[in-house]
Amino acid sequence: MSVALISHPDCMQHEMGVHHPEQPARLSAINDRLVASGLGMVLLHYDAPLATDAQLRLAHSQSYIDGVRAASPAEGHVWLDGDTAMNPYTLDAALRAAGAAVEGVDLVLGGAARQAFCAVRPPGHHAERARSMGFCIFNNIAIGAYHALNQHGLERVAIVDFDVHHGNGTEDIVAGDERILFCSTFQHPFYPHSGFDAQAPNLVNVPLPAGSGGTEFREAVTAGWLPRLQAFAPQLVLISAGFDAHQADDMAGLNLVDNDFFWVTRQLCEVADASAGGRIVSTLEGGYELHALARSVEAHIRAFYGP
Ligand SMILES: [Zn+2]
Repeated sequence: MSVALISHPDCMQHEMGVHHPEQPARLSAINDRLVASGLGMVLLHYDAPLATDAQLRLAHSQSYIDGVRAASPAEGHVWLDGDTAMNPYTLDAALRAAGAAVEGVDLVLGGAARQAFCAVRPPGHHAERARSMGFCIFNNIAIGAYHALNQHGLERVAIVDFDVHHGNGTEDIVAGDERILFCSTFQHPFYPHSGFDAQAPNLVNVPLPAGSGGTEFREAVTAGWLPRLQAFAPQLVLISAGFDAHQADDMAGLNLVDNDFFWVTRQLCEVADASAGGRIVSTLEGGYELHALARSVEAHIRAFYGP
């Protein structure tokens, strides 16, 4: 029943300005909550390594990787796009965020932990093969998926994304690859205005209208995700764990509560128990209301330990 927590101090040094919602305080709020709840005492703590270029190339073009490296500033901020900036520490934070997913896969497939949660930033699911977007630089979850397929020889990996925003970057990278089943719920219509028209057969997109709460979310997961996941029988379940669908998070307009994140995590544990030996690697995506974020991450991790 061992659960790994993978993080690194470099992920606290990346910041994009004092008013930017994707801020270092997100990780300190999570860490404080894990300490206060006692979970911090039982989790296995690991430092996230720096991802290598070969690992980044699992999901990105070398020219994009080179461009990110070249953009890294010696001081101040450089904006990669309208939402995503780099400070002098961002490159290492982004490499550690991607490296954490790789480490998580190595830990759970190597048997050192049954599940792993990566408390890292920047997040990843909006980052496309050759484009940063929406606070994301490297697509951490896609890199982890291809590491499991290519380095560990797995044949079927599921990526499940319950962030309130559609994971357009993950879709851009994995669409059409039958070794990966990508299941997503997201508010629609809403940023990034993708997902609702996806046609590749390995994509299970379930849009939710603004105002949807736990009842609608659970129906979407039960009817939309679970039959496809059970039929796919993944050998590893990866989670893009965004908590911005929480009702307290004013980034968007869904109304989930802490316990909805516990519930969906339990559903994914049952999927993983059935075909993947219980193996799950989850990585932090969104979630911007610090109290709700910290409580929801606690609920998410607590679900790994059982009902
Ligand atoms: Zn989000």
